[in-house]
Amino acid sequence: MVVHSAEDSLCAPAPTGAIVLLGKDKDSKSKWTKRNGDPIGWTFEDGVLTCKGGSGDVRTAEQFSNYQLHVEFRTPYMPEATGQGRGNSGVYQAGRYELQVLDSYGLKSQDNDCGAIYKQYAPAVNACRKPMEWQSYDITFRSAKVVDGKEVEKARITVIQNGQKILDDKPISVTPGGLDMKPGLPGPILLQDHGNSVSFRNMWIKPL
Ligand code: MG
Repeated sequence: MVVHSAEDSLCAPAPTGAIVLLGKDKDSKSKWTKRNGDPIGWTFEDGVLTCKGGSGDVRTAEQFSNYQLHVEFRTPYMPEATGQGRGNSGVYQAGRYELQVLDSYGLKSQDNDCGAIYKQYAPAVNACRKPMEWQSYDITFRSAKVVDGKEVEKARITVIQNGQKILDDKPISVTPGGLDMKPGLPGPILLQDHGNSVSFRNMWIKPL
């Protein structure tokens, strides 16, 4: 997919060969479960999946290794909150690597702000929109390579946020808070419940 501008990176249609993980059909909800496989506590309405704080992380039933992932997200307006308490969620790649979701509008981005690989890389630029505005991530993820129990090649990630490249083919390590600390295995897309009502929509994945 070619991303031409911030505007047309929203509502990008699923290309040929992609699997829709979150669309307008009711069926979308059935593609997500709690970590333990139980039905999710998040709300799903008109194609929008919204975190219900305290109900737990949600994950896709299906697992993936190398892929292109499109996801749209919206952080809530939380003027009283600051830092990690303001619109926090996360999109875990293969269930293990957190691409941070946060209201980081207008900040000098650190390695725990929106667009960061949590505590490893800050985004190259702050491409964030204001809270309550829809934003997009276009992610290319390649699994780590593990031989005889040893990680010989780290996973790699490229991320475009709202049409701007913020992470360029970065080698990454497993971050805390995911399903496990085992690189190299396929895993689900996992969305973090950090207690804030962050919303997601139009999510599709194309295995590579
Ligand atoms: Mg987070």
